[in-house]
Amino acid sequence: MICLGVEGTAHTIGVGIVKDSSDKCRVLSNVMKIYQPEHGGIHPREAANHHALYVADLIKEAIEKAGVNSSDIDLVSFSQGPGLGPCLRTAATAARALALTLNKPILGVNHCVAHLEVGRGTIEDCNDPVLLYTSGANTQVIAFAEGRYRVFGETLDIGIGNCLDKFGRTVGIDFPCGPKIEKLAMKGEKYLALPYTIKGMDVAFSGLLTMAEQYYRKGEKIEDICFSMQETAFAALTEVTERAMAHTEKNEVLLGGGVAANKRLRNMVRIMAEERDASFFVPSKDLCIDNGAMIAWLGVLMYKSGIRMKIEETFIDQRFRTDMVDVTWRE
Ligand code: AMP
Ligand code: MG
Repeated sequence: MICLGVEGTAHTIGVGIVKDSSDKCRVLSNVMKIYQPEHGGIHPREAANHHALYVADLIKEAIEKAGVNSSDIDLVSFSQGPGLGPCLRTAATAARALALTLNKPILGVNHCVAHLEVGRGTIEDCNDPVLLYTSGANTQVIAFAEGRYRVFGETLDIGIGNCLDKFGRTVGIDFPCGPKIEKLAMKGEKYLALPYTIKGMDVAFSGLLTMAEQYYRKGEKIEDICFSMQETAFAALTEVTERAMAHTEKNEVLLGGGVAANKRLRNMVRIMAEERDASFFVPSKDLCIDNGAMIAWLGVLMYKSGIRMKIEETFIDQRFRTDMVDVTWRE
């Protein structure tokens, strides 16, 4: 079956088309536009206006690039949550209009679960991973247990990407700040002590952010601060991921979310996996960041397992939690 997925939880409006071939996900196209705030953080209404401006063209482009006709599309899916209300509503409205026009079924899907499933769907040998999902807004350690994707650990305050972006904003780095902080960190030489906050299986980053900003005001070198932030925050994430692997007795780890592009984070998690004799996986970059293909793939899995939604059931849910999803497509 062929599914077109629309992603629109936050800064990215994306459209992807996937096809299932012997239970694996084949991405036929995956196109996106990212809203860049002129200054400050994401303004939800302006991000939604951005999405409304581009979504129709992205749908056309995705269909063209996939080399299919619109009549070949069997299913339309969209990101139902979690995310920013105005953005979610815009993506959902576009998906509903498309499904009604094509007279095809529609499914709303959970964005966080989609990050995990696209790894399982596209990577050979990735079957039952613990997912370390690190994005702007979300930071969660997720694994399958007894019919659900359970959150074994998560941030108690801000997402790790958000922590990096907020620090960047304070010191005058453009959004998205993660990649620029990564470059600066490579030149860091001195480790500056920062709060390493793990409570149970959860992490927190606001204390680290405040102290990093203090170091900046005191005139510490930006390279050293970026280096220390990465070392501290990523070590905490690696620690809770390892604990989740030990607890669930899983021997695969998967990264997802925009921060998974970071080489230092990848290395830390890779080393941890090697030391446990576990497998380490990262999806290709365009499937790590927010994208329509992962939304399309989760649509396929849900549809094939028998899930159906009436158009009036396709309301969005800003607080749609990972563990609210009944995982009907896995044993
Ligand atoms: P997402 O919300 O999943 O699209 O991811 C966006 C977040 O990823 C932003 O907070 C970025 O700053 C962050 N990010 C992107 N690339 C990197 C990188 N190389 N290192 C650290 N963070 C990154
Ligand atoms: Mg995401």
